[in-house]
Amino acid sequence: MEPIYLDYQATTPLDPRVLEAMLPWWGARFGNPHSTGHARGRDAGAAVEAARAEVAALIGGDPREIVFTSGATEANNLAIKGAARFHRRRGDHVVTVATEHKCVLESVRALEAEGFRTTILPVGPDGLLDLDRLAAALDDRTLLVSVMLANNEIGTIQPLAEIARIAHAAGALVHTDAAQAAGKIPVDVAALDVDLMSLSAHKLYGPQGIGALWLRRRPRARIAPLFDGGGQERGLRSGTVPTPLAVGFGAACAVARAEMPAESARIAALRDRLAELLVSRLAPVYVNGHPTRRLPGNLSIGFAGVEATRLLAALPELALSAGSACTSAAVEPSYVVRALGRDDGEAAATVRIALGRFTTAGEVERAAELLIGRVTALRAAPGLELSGMGV
Ligand SMILES: *Cc1c(COP(=O)(O)O)cnc(C)c1O
Repeated sequence: MEPIYLDYQATTPLDPRVLEAMLPWWGARFGNPHSTGHARGRDAGAAVEAARAEVAALIGGDPREIVFTSGATEANNLAIKGAARFHRRRGDHVVTVATEHKCVLESVRALEAEGFRTTILPVGPDGLLDLDRLAAALDDRTLLVSVMLANNEIGTIQPLAEIARIAHAAGALVHTDAAQAAGKIPVDVAALDVDLMSLSAHKLYGPQGIGALWLRRRPRARIAPLFDGGGQERGLRSGTVPTPLAVGFGAACAVARAEMPAESARIAALRDRLAELLVSRLAPVYVNGHPTRRLPGNLSIGFAGVEATRLLAALPELALSAGSACTSAAVEPSYVVRALGRDDGEAAATVRIALGRFTTAGEVERAAELLIGRVTALRAAPGLELSGMGV
């Protein structure tokens, strides 16, 4: 039997409606969307533009502000390196936060080698950035502040509008990685008042391999491109836009926009039910992140005395992650959970449970039952390998 999928923050399955929308573009309707000299190219080009409009609409942006990329990793690299390099003469300082995705932290680190100064701000025990510390970190040479909207491990939602107000007052541009937030909570670029926003299709039931960078037009957020080439995407991202993936991304955004309010309420209720079962039956446990300012599907939870990697090995019926998926290849406790002030043991006990669109109430009850059984067994026999013992 397939494991119950509870890893929606690592990737989401394609929505069947998205797959349906993409299919013709893998077959008979192929074409280079930049080939305007014939009908086939223009057909693909029109589909890409329709998708661009759907992506923009999800975040309250203008289609002309969307640059398609290969995903949020590329969008974050483009935003951070592109903005810093473009504005090099105006300043030399970039600010971000300790709980950001690796691709943000590593982009910022790469800028150090180019002579930029960087500040990595800490977070509180709830995962929120302290606004006074942000204000104190800024100076008149600060070019860019990059703070994610919602965290991929602990689900904490940052106060981006306040962060943007503080950063703009200091003359800095504001970038946000909204890969986890878009499609899950309302996201509006005007209300957040950011300058640059990164998105990823495969976090919102679209295909892997495409994302976008939104860049404010008025006033224009200016960046240097990463790639040299044919000058597609208004010169900011050379390379052929993959028509099927763009169409899928647009379809995914349209579905998210239509269904988000009802879907998020349903998922949050399931998550709360799961948390209640685990907290009441498995004490001592701890829940990471902010109690209310968090993504609807996220539950980052540690079961005291039970290492997450051992728990997952004993739970083949469930697909979930220990810490962050992207760093779990190197078996080290999550740096995000450590940033909350938890010790190595607590971080190593943390599992990330992420519910989503296709999670059912029955799956939640079954997952809770399995977790309760295996955590209880591992605590009773901490030295034993339990997988395969039928517990
Ligand atoms: C998944 C994720 C990324 C990387 O997105 P890709 O499209 O897989 O490159 C970046 N930031 C956050 C917060 C993510 O969750």
